[in-house]
Amino acid sequence: MHSDGRPQQSQDRQAEPPDLTRYTRQTSLETFGVAGQESLCRSCALVVGVGGLGSWVAELLVRAGVGRIRLVDDDSVEIANIHRQAMYTEDDAAAHRLKIEAAAKRLRDINNTVEIETVRARLDRRTAENLMRDMDVVADGTDNFESRFILNDCAMKLAKPWVFAGIVGTKAQVMAIMPGKTPCLRCLMDGPPPSAEPSGRSPNPVLGVAVAVTAAFEATEALKILAGQSERVNPHLLVCDLWDNTIKQIDISPRRADCPCCVHRDFEFLEP
Ligand SMILES: [Zn+2]
Repeated sequence: MHSDGRPQQSQDRQAEPPDLTRYTRQTSLETFGVAGQESLCRSCALVVGVGGLGSWVAELLVRAGVGRIRLVDDDSVEIANIHRQAMYTEDDAAAHRLKIEAAAKRLRDINNTVEIETVRARLDRRTAENLMRDMDVVADGTDNFESRFILNDCAMKLAKPWVFAGIVGTKAQVMAIMPGKTPCLRCLMDGPPPSAEPSGRSPNPVLGVAVAVTAAFEATEALKILAGQSERVNPHLLVCDLWDNTIKQIDISPRRADCPCCVHRDFEFLEP
């Protein structure tokens, strides 16, 4: 790991070009096609946190054929993670393996044409720009709003699309944020809500299958962007409760005219 958040590249990067044969069922989709696959294979995604949401999102993107993926996390696998966190096993928990290490092995086993990068760190105001600068999309796998506001500031500063996702209990929210086009996180709220989850130190209850469903919505928005079909991105805030059988599309347009972040470009969450 580099101290400033620059990624450590995979040592066993595959030199061969990806074989599109493995994506036949995807390229045959009229709305995706070979062009979408080729765009996806040339693209790179940053997954911030490979816990519940992030591990599912990373696996879905790697199976789909994203060209390069960067995983950022500093946590180790615990037995209580496994009910909701794809990719990890009891053996990983017993060995207290770093999530990025366990995830990278699993992802290479799934699709060795994808370049996997790992960074043992937390995204913070110091590391955010280096982690994000060369990425095409950012997927939110964090567990707290403090990190999300840093992520939002950095994404708006660098004009990177990102997908916000959060889940508490059986309730989920997903929103794709396209800089300059759709509302950013600060268009919706001034800062971290006081009742928000406290930096992951007091774990929220969560239904494992709800995490998987939420991550699938999140990965879908990332795939649209990476496949060159940003016009298909959902412009609404998706809110659903898997246990209460409710799903809503909340209209969040237009962007806030006086948004300090995406309008006035005051990136206070990146400041020391
Ligand atoms: Zn905004």
